[in-house]
Formats: sequence, structure tokens, C-alpha cells
Amino acid sequence: MVPAADRRVREEKSCDITQIQLSYDCSFIFIMAVLCISFLFQLLFCLAFSLPTGRNSICGYRSCPPTNPSMLNVHLVPHTHDDVGWLKTVDQYFYGDRNYIQHAGVQYILDSVIDQLQKDPARRFIYVETAFFYRWWRQQSQSTQRIVTQLVNEGRLEFINGGWCMSDEATTHYSAVIDQMTLGLRFLNDTFGECGRPRVAWHIDPFGHAREHASIFAQMGYDGFFFGRLDYQDKARRMNTKEMEMLWRASESLTPPVADLFTGVLPNGYNPPAGFCWDQSCDDAPIRDDPDLEDYNVDEIVQLFLNTSYRQAAFYKTNHIIMTMGSDFQYENANLWYKNMDKLIKYVNALQAKGSKVNVLYSTPSCYLQELNLANFTWPLKTDDFFPYADDAHDFWTGYFTSRPALKLYERLSNSRLQTCNQLEVLGGPKSTSGPFGEGDSDTMKRAMGVAQHHDAVSGTEKQHVAYDYARRLATGWAHCEVLVRNSLAVLSGSEAPRVFCENLNISVCPLTESSRKFSMNVYNPLARTVRWPVRLPVNGSAYSVTDSTGKAVDSQVVPLSKSSKEVRRNRGYAKSELVFQVEAPPLGYSTYVISMLQDEPPASSTKPTATRSIQNKFLKVTFDDTTGLLSSLTNLETNQTIRLSQNFYWYNASAGNNEESRQTSGAYIFRPNSSDPFVINKTAEIQISTVSSTVQEVTQWFSPWVSQVVRLYEGRRELELEWTVGPVPVADGLGKEVITRLDTDIKSSDYFYTDSNGREVLERRKDYRPTWDLKQTEPVAGNYYPINSRAYIKDDKHQLTVVTDRSQGASSLYNGSLEIMLHRRLLYDDFRGVGEPLSEPGVFFDGLVVRGRLLLTLTPPDTAADVHRPLAQGMVLQPLLSFQDGTPSVNTKLQFSGLQAALPPAVHLLTLSQWDKDLVLIRLEHQYEAKESKTYSQPVTVNLQKLFSTLEVLGASEMSLGANQWKEDMNRLQWNTEKTSKPHPLSAKDPSAWEVTLNPMEIRTFLLRVQQLQN
Ligand SMILES: [Zn+2]
Repeated sequence: MVPAADRRVREEKSCDITQIQLSYDCSFIFIMAVLCISFLFQLLFCLAFSLPTGRNSICGYRSCPPTNPSMLNVHLVPHTHDDVGWLKTVDQYFYGDRNYIQHAGVQYILDSVIDQLQKDPARRFIYVETAFFYRWWRQQSQSTQRIVTQLVNEGRLEFINGGWCMSDEATTHYSAVIDQMTLGLRFLNDTFGECGRPRVAWHIDPFGHAREHASIFAQMGYDGFFFGRLDYQDKARRMNTKEMEMLWRASESLTPPVADLFTGVLPNGYNPPAGFCWDQSCDDAPIRDDPDLEDYNVDEIVQLFLNTSYRQAAFYKTNHIIMTMGSDFQYENANLWYKNMDKLIKYVNALQAKGSKVNVLYSTPSCYLQELNLANFTWPLKTDDFFPYADDAHDFWTGYFTSRPALKLYERLSNSRLQTCNQLEVLGGPKSTSGPFGEGDSDTMKRAMGVAQHHDAVSGTEKQHVAYDYARRLATGWAHCEVLVRNSLAVLSGSEAPRVFCENLNISVCPLTESSRKFSMNVYNPLARTVRWPVRLPVNGSAYSVTDSTGKAVDSQVVPLSKSSKEVRRNRGYAKSELVFQVEAPPLGYSTYVISMLQDEPPASSTKPTATRSIQNKFLKVTFDDTTGLLSSLTNLETNQTIRLSQNFYWYNASAGNNEESRQTSGAYIFRPNSSDPFVINKTAEIQISTVSSTVQEVTQWFSPWVSQVVRLYEGRRELELEWTVGPVPVADGLGKEVITRLDTDIKSSDYFYTDSNGREVLERRKDYRPTWDLKQTEPVAGNYYPINSRAYIKDDKHQLTVVTDRSQGASSLYNGSLEIMLHRRLLYDDFRGVGEPLSEPGVFFDGLVVRGRLLLTLTPPDTAADVHRPLAQGMVLQPLLSFQDGTPSVNTKLQFSGLQAALPPAVHLLTLSQWDKDLVLIRLEHQYEAKESKTYSQPVTVNLQKLFSTLEVLGASEMSLGANQWKEDMNRLQWNTEKTSKPHPLSAKDPSAWEVTLNPMEIRTFLLRVQQLQN
């Protein structure tokens, strides 16, 4: 650690009424903020901060090596790609444990690289995954830390990307991506200051690239982005037209260049060119340069390098090219690499004296990027995304959109819980982390979620034992949060009575509600608006009274537990029924419900099992076909529109790799059905239970012993819920199965459908079509699959059918009016992409994983669809947290609480509220509508930061970059020329005052607020 005396403080005071001094915990960062109040509500912020860049530090672009403008400059970028879990767990990779699975030890890589960097100031190295660097750094001596800091300050060791991991792009939600980036960037900022701030985003391995990721990187201040994988047809075209490098305009709502990101496709994925891999894991010849010894090969290697360089340069525009010198877990013995690269540079550049025009140098992605920027070219513009990714005609990486569906849901729920944990840490104050229930924290969960975003984690492409490790980390993270949440709710409610959480409500298991005759339920709402939410509790009584926080009776019913729930839970619970009612909780707050058993026998109930063939509430009506038992129509009673809607379950027979066209199998990554026609699981559904009550109406459909569904309409809700249960998928017939549900309608969608990007902006898709090249379609099903993270829809002039999902999945529309979603996969073969296992999850009973999930359907006119699906999807992502206390709440318990003075406007989503340090909280406010999607809400909206909280006084505010590692006013990104001119969005509006911040459509604004708890 740098002693405090070394901290340099830059002060810029333009006026001096109040001075706030902020300092980060265990950091080198020192911030001086001067808050100037010039008039009553008119505020100016004068902020200055200084970072421990070290004396004479020349990091960043200033530390780049010189190049030669009259030559072809070859930038060698020494790098290692360290997966934060894949074949081994993250900690096994760190230590180099279990090398019999894969030889890989990250601690040795960093040891060895730091040693080698010190031997020559020309050498460079980049490091990417902060989850690993954080592990290593904590174990280093002060002297090593000083050496590393100096290397960073001199630009010899450069952090690139810098998130906790290199996130997956197809299966992640933007909320968790922003969090994991923030976590990694904060560690780098706290540890190295400005010299630790990455300039370049680096996603060399993820299997396709999401537009929302590019938008996020741009808003985090990155100057450029490089990746390795794109569709092979796209790559071939781009090489021919020299469009390997481009400007990606990643938002249709944000005014350029806010979401513009310079993007480059790397020439060899992320590997070295053929013949130049000098890692201990490679077999290429070393440079044998002693003429007195045998096998002198300098001339041969230099010639190969020159040929390789010219060949590569033919596909790029400038006289600079990049070579990624490294690969997975390389540099464990960095001497091998550096010794040979030193020689390569020496001998290649020596030829310049004889007229060679090739100049090779140690470099970094940011130094390469700077040269591209200086070239001042006009770059092609990209506005769509890079999905799906195929590396050959029958090799579409579209299976992982759905692989490990249970892990995908658990990750999504964990995000919801982390946001709740973060919020309650702020609202409950210091006692949250140290209170009546002990020591709790949100950091463990933040790190677990950071690791879970990795491109072999939530993607589902890891080995089974590693998937268990990710889930275990999330569970441990939640255990730490549980203590925090208990403490915080004790502070806010004034009740220190024991509180339990029920983890298995989705399979109707909760020991307390199953056995207790009287209990209370706290419903915490992490959204910044009031929500109503249906609750189902497993119970054994036949009638209950439910009262809300004011003591008012709440309509409730006891409904029989479905056969499917009994089969899923097996011996893990014994409830006979479910108590169903709707709850309401205030913005960023909780309400409390008291539930008392009135009757324990007999199981008479207020519900009427009927043979009804339609169900309806105030807003929707859904009918079932008399003969098939399938859905037959959906009506929106408000807008008076009806569509034909049938839905069924099917499975694609996974390719076993035994056909003539290709040996490719379906596996964890790849989706390759044997035939374009899926098998129907059953042409008819047996309707087993219909329940009609004042709270819920539901119809249970039974398709097979392993597929069932409940079709549900809750009172007062505008969406139809389809709760599907799939598994154990039978494979005794020797056939791998990829299970989908398909919605077939009379909507005239033609070949078009729409999918979200990381849960945010929506992209148009068209069957057998790519916006940027003439597609030769070779896989009519898999080649039309796209990732969905929160929603998909089809529409025509009159109708839009939107499906909101509870986790990331793969989806497509292969027929006019049809939308299909892949739910579950169980496969028998590995797909040759390295994981080395067939994707066949055993589940807790080892007979095959059973997965349950929900699809929420809305039918609306297209121009009002977003008004419904935007809040619906946010409610799915941030779900209320239920906790239970046995008995009656004590008299002094505060039964209702809201952390906000008022609900935020409907267009505004509170994306982040998290304790930053003792007096600072991080807040992100998001406009959740796109520019053109809602007549009502696609407008600028203003929020007053000072009037947000009910229990916190806001003393100061500073706006940050999206990643919170830079003051917004200091963001100064490289500018790029593109083919098309950019003009500001007509809707964009400015802040009325310093406290009142205006959000334009799809804008996220990030602030550090200095707060203090208001005394009651
Ligand atoms: Zn990887």
C-alpha cells in the first residue's frame, strides 16, 4: 500500500461553501469534492480527485512504444486467456490444482509474467480477469506489490477489460453485467488508480456478441473493443472488404456517440499465428539463432513471420496489425514466450537495414487502438449484433442459449437477491452488516455473481462439477446476504424475532408455512414503484385468514397442490395445498401479511374444480380446444382483440454426428437437430385440474409423465402465465432431446420476430437473413435461433404477442405467426468444443434434471406493447423477497416501510442502490423505454436526487461513468469517423438543475451520493 503521504491531492475550488472529503476504504484514492451551493436549489459540483499514479507515471496511451509510419507495424500483444471456471473451478484454475483435468495455474502465470516483465522495459503484458488478479494480489508481499504498481504505472503491465470476468454475452442480463464490470473496475481503481483504468474492452472468447454489451462498454468509457469469434461467413466477407474493424452504433435510442464503440475482429481468434506459439503447452519450434549449433532457423522463421504479416495486413485498413501472442492459460513459464519474442523482434527488425518494411514491437490492444485512431480513417458502421455465431456450416453455437436452464434461473434469481441485499444494506444502515443476527455482507454475493457472469458459467458450457461450484458460490453469497437482510429488516421493522427464507417455494416447499398455524410474511419489493404480486404458499390447512399491514382482510384461497408439484418435490415437503393471494408492497420497501389457519380439516375450499374450457379475468380471456386440451385463443378484453393461439411442447432430436453432411453433434454449445421437424410430445393435453377462484384461475395440462403445464390468470393482471415443468427428459431410447414450446398464432408476422439484447433494447430478427451479409443458410433451425434474456415477440399491424421469460433462453420464429422457445436440453454426446462431457444434468435425484419455469404472455396493439412488457419484465427480474416469522408480530413491529419519498416515475427504473463506503452510496437510474416504443413513456423524465429517499438525507452527488471508475466529466473517449453522420436524438433533454437529473430514453445515469441517515 502506498503511504498516505504519497497521496497527491488536486484541488480545484471555484467557490468554497462546503467541502466534502471522500476517501475510499483501503484504497489509494483520495477525492476532494467541493460542493458549492449558489442559490436555494441551484447547485454546482466542483470535483477533483487524484490517483496514485506514482511519480512520473506514463501509463495509458502515453506509454505506447514508438512505431514507424512508413512501415507495416506489427503489434505483438502478449496475453493469457484465463477462464473464471470451465473444466476446473475458478479456484482450481487459480492454484493450478487438478492439472490432470487441464494443465492450468493462474498464480504461476502472474508470478512468471511479473518476473519476466522486470527483465526488459520493452516487454508488455495485458491482464484481463480481475477475479484472478484479485486472488493473486492479496497474496503478494508489499515489495512485489510495489513492483507491480510500478509496472502498471509505466504501462508495461496493462489491465484490459478489467471486469471480474469476461462475461458471456448471450445469456447475461445487463444488470449483472454492469455489476460485475463495476466490481472488477473498482478493485483496479482502488488498487492502481488512473493507471489501472482499462481503455479497451476485450471479449476474445465469448461465442457471439451482444449489442447491449457494446453499449455498456461505450458508456463505461472504453475507447475500443476487440473480439475473436464471429460467424465464419461474416468473417470471410469482412476480410474481403477490409471491414474487420468498424464503428458499432450500439443503441437506437442514445444520441451518438454515447453508445458508439470502435470494434475490431482479431485475425486469429485470440491465438498466435501458425508457427509462433512459444508457450510450454505448444510444439512450435523455438528460434534457434546460434549458427554454431545445429538447426539454425532464424531466416526461415523471419521469412514465415514476414509472409504471415503481409497476408494478415491484406485484410486490414491501416499499416498497423495486431497479433495475439498467447492463448488459454498460457505464460505459466513466461520465459519461453518472451525469450523467443525478443529474438523475433530483434531479427525481423534487423532486416529493416536491408530494406524490409516490417516493424515488429511489443504492444498492447490500447496502443494498437491508438494507432488506428491516429490514422483518422472513416470506418464502416455496424448497427445490429453478432448473433448467432457459427464456425462452420453445421456448427451453430445456439444451444448454450438454453444449456443448464436451472443454473440460468438460479443466476437470475441471485441477481434479484443481490439487488435486494444491496438496497437493504443502504436502507438499514451500519447495523445491516453487524447487527442482532451477526455479521453479514453483500461482497461475497457480489463476487459470486461476478464469477457467474463468465462465458463458461451462466452460459452452461462448463463441466458438471464446475456448474455445482458456481451454484454453491451463489448459495454461500446468499447466506451472507441473508444475515444482512435479517439485520436490516430488524432495524427497519423494530422486530428482532427470528426470520426464515423459503428457498424452494417454486416446488411448493416451505417447512414453516407447511406446519405453522399462525405466521407473518414480509414482502420486500426491490422496485421503485408499488407492485402487486401473486403469492403461493405450501400449506396443510384448508382455510386461512390473511390480513395486510393495516389489518385489512385479503382475499385468499386454498387450492390443491398439483400432481406435477408433488412429483417435482418428491420427499422434500408434505403440503397438500397452496394458499394463494396477492400482495402489495410499497416502492423500495416492504409490507407485512399475517396468515392464520382457520380450519385444518376437511379440505373443503372456496375453489371450484370445474371442467371449464376457458378462463378469464378483467383483462384477458383464454380458451382451450375441446378435443385437444391445448390453448386455442387469447383475447385482450380491454382492447377487444383476439388471436388464435395454440401452444404445445416438442423436442428436436439432437444430432449424434453420424450423418453425411457433418460429424457435428449437439452439445453444451452447439444446437444441431437431426431434422428440422421436431417431434410433438403429445398432440393432446389431458386437462387435469381447473380451478376458478376470485384470486386465480388455472388449468393444469398434462402432456406426458415428463411435461406438464399450468395455465394461469391472476385477478387484476394483464398477463397470462404459463408455468411449465419439463423433466426428467428420458434418454433411454438413445436419443438426445432439445425440448421447446411453440406458440402458433394467426398474427401475420411473416419472417420477422424480435428479441431483446441482454434484457434491454430489442432487435429485429428475420428468418434466414442477416442484415450485414448475404446469408447462405445451412441449418434451417439452429441457424435461426437467437438468445433472449427477458423477452421475445411477434407482431403485425394489429397484434403483438410478447413473451416475457424468467431466465435466458434460445428462441426463434420459423413459421409465420409462430414463436418457439427452447426450455431444456438433455444430450448424449460432447460437441468437440473442449468441455468434454455430454450435457446430461443428473438433477438432485440422479435420474435427470427437472426444470420448472414461467412464460408471461401479453397481447396488445404493437404501439402500446412496451407499456406492458417493460414493467412486467423488470418485475420478473427483480422479484419480491419473502421472509417469514412464526407467530404474531409483536405490537411495536413496523409492518410497512418504504425507502422512497414517492414512487419513481413509471419510465424510471432504479437499477442500482448499493453502499459504496461509509458515507457514499452508488445509485443508477435508468430510463427503461426505448426512444420510439411508447407514446406515453418514451419521453425525457426528470428525477430529483435530493428528494429520493425517506430515511436518507442526500448531501452531495457526483456523476460517474457507468462503471463508476471515472467522474463523468472526466470521460474523454477517442473519437471516430464513420460513414454516416450522427445527429442528436430529437427527444434528448438536459438537466433543469444540479439536483434534478433528466433521463432520456434508454439512458442510465450513475451517481455517487453522499448520504446520512435521517434520525427518526
Ligand atoms: Zn474462455
